[in-house]
Parts: sequence; C-alpha cells; structure tokens
Amino acid sequence: MSKVALVTGGTRGIGEAICTALKDAGYTVVANYGGNDEAAKAFTEHTGIPSFKFDVSNFEKTKEAIEQIATDYGPVEILVNNAGITRDGTMHRMDFEQWNAVIQTNLASCFNTCRAVIDSMREKGFGRIVNIGSINGQAGQYGQVNYAAAKSGIHGFTKALAQEGAAKGVTVNAIAPGYVDTEMVRAVPEEVLKKIVAKIPVGRLGTPEDIARSVLFLIGDEAGFITGSTLSVNGGQHMY
Ligand code: NDP
Repeated sequence: MSKVALVTGGTRGIGEAICTALKDAGYTVVANYGGNDEAAKAFTEHTGIPSFKFDVSNFEKTKEAIEQIATDYGPVEILVNNAGITRDGTMHRMDFEQWNAVIQTNLASCFNTCRAVIDSMREKGFGRIVNIGSINGQAGQYGQVNYAAAKSGIHGFTKALAQEGAAKGVTVNAIAPGYVDTEMVRAVPEEVLKKIVAKIPVGRLGTPEDIARSVLFLIGDEAGFITGSTLSVNGGQHMY
C-alpha cells in the first residue's frame, strides 16, 4: 500500500507541483484547496488527484475533512502544509482583517492540520510533516508584517513539533522558498519583481518544481534523520 499524502493548497502553484511529484513517486495523494473550484476541477481532471475543499484556517472543518480523507484513503502519513495567502500593506495601513487572515491561513492552519493527523502518526510510529515557510519569514519584508510573522512562526512551530515527534518516528521540517514563479509572485508589480530577481544570485525565480523536489527528499525514508530543520530553496538570495 502506498503512503497517503495530504497537500494543503495543492491545486495551484507550488502545491500542484508537489502533488504531481508525489504522485509520480508512487504516493497516494490528496489535495486540499480553499475556494477556487474551477482551478481544483481542472487540477483533478488533469492529474487524476482528488481535491477536497475546506478552509484550513477553520479548526472544525479541517478536522472533519481529514477524518473523511482517512475514511476514504487511510490515515494521512505525509502532511505538507502549503496553503498560504498574502494580504500585503505597511503597518500604518494594514487593518485587522489583513493581519488576521494571514495569521489564520498561514500559521493557525498548521495547528489545525497537524492536530488532526498527529495521533495516528504517533500510533503508527511514522509520519512526515513538511511546512512551507518563506524567505520572508527568515529575513522579514517591507509591507508584510502579517506574512513575515506567520511564516516565522512556522519555523518555530516546526522545531517544537519536531522535538515532540522524534521518538515516535514523526519528522517535521520546513522549507523556506525564495521567490517562486506562481500567481502569488505574479501579483507583485513588474518593476518590484525585476529588482527582486536582480538580487537572486542564480539570476532567476524559482520554479514550483524546485520546491516539490525538496519536499520529495524530506518525506523519503532516506531523510529519516533530518528533523526540525529548515531547508532554504532560494537561489542563494538569503544565506544563514
Ligand atoms: P498560490 O496562491 O499559487 O496557491 C495557494 C494555494 O493555497 C491554492 O491552492 C489555494 O486554494 C490554497 N489556499 C489559500 N487559502 C486557503 C485556505 N484558507 N484553505 C485551503 N486552501 C487555501 O500560492 P503559491 O503556490 O505561490 O504558494 C504556496 C505556498 O508557498 C504558500 O504557503 C506561500 O506562502 C509559500 N511561498 C510562496 C512563495 C512564492 O514565491 N510563490 C515564496 C515563499 C513561500 P484556492 O485555489 O482555492 O484559492
């Protein structure tokens, strides 16, 4: 039986590439998405991967959906927390909704999903959790106090849960992508994007596949000794 993997925000962008890479590697993949039914339908038709609509920022709905996935496919053994949004603005212009939406969707969601899968992973003595952070959670970014705080929180969350899971065969790691060519980044004004690319030593944006390959590595059996780490995948833009 192939292992069951849930990828949140799996129907577009980086998540779609992760789903495809995992499916190609033989995992049983289930994708989640938040509201874009059209994209999810096209994704499922194109890849054959089922997509489940639920808001990862909602604790109860997430719990119910993950129980349903366990009934339909088996308990989730691999969880990739990838769903994320931006609601940018400088602090003096940001309202509470912008702050809260990003914290709930990008950070609280990790609690919601992990809480729903952690018991079965611990019972089984195996689990792989990969949380998608960001270069902007490591370095901060103008106009993104909400996003930088949420992503930075993911890195702390990862290290704490890694300590709890280690003796039970559950590894927890984070990936901190740099700028990757998806709709999220295409929303950045062209002039700003040019300046960003100029600061990337390898001279290009990342691709969703660059991130997907890193996820594949971290969930593999050969990565069982890696836990609590953050893998920076950013073309050399931020090193520390
Ligand atoms: P996209 O905007 O292309 O896709 C986001 C995905 O998340 C969609 O599938 C979307 O579903 C889903 N989603 C959003 N909100 C929710 C929600 N409340 N519940 C469930 N699903 C939700 O994003 P990217 O592929 O660019 O980014 C993926 C991850 O990588 C994010 O966490 C992002 O912060 C991170 N990242 C991205 C970088 C980049 O340069 N692109 C750089 C660093 C990190 P729907 O289609 O229904 O809206």
